[in-house]
Amino acid sequence: MAYYPDLSPYTYDTADREMLTVGWLSREHPYTTGTAPEGLVEALVRLAREAVNVQRGMHFCNLCPDFQTARAHTSRGDVFIGSGEIRVTSDSGIVYAAPTMIVHYVEDHAYLPPEEFCVAALGAV
Ligand SMILES: [Zn+2]
Repeated sequence: MAYYPDLSPYTYDTADREMLTVGWLSREHPYTTGTAPEGLVEALVRLAREAVNVQRGMHFCNLCPDFQTARAHTSRGDVFIGSGEIRVTSDSGIVYAAPTMIVHYVEDHAYLPPEEFCVAALGAV
């Protein structure tokens, strides 16, 4: 999976509207950590059920200490998070594109997405 800094223009494929990236993490780049707002993980799980751009390939978390652990985290409950992306639209019309793996990043790696994204995700469900 490609790395993008949070809130950079989304360039993963051709989109018909402008989007900003959130949660495209890599072990080679530092990311913001903290305590996620209440309900964020659940909101992201619900969004991940309606993933878009689901590829045939599978993505493994590269923040996990080893492959066994990463492989155990390609789904969360009955929701597959090893492929695809979620879309979140803010009140002001900004669209965020995040990998479904963001569920695992927030829940298990203490990743704290930008506040504007958290607000939008919590408002979307
Ligand atoms: Zn991981």
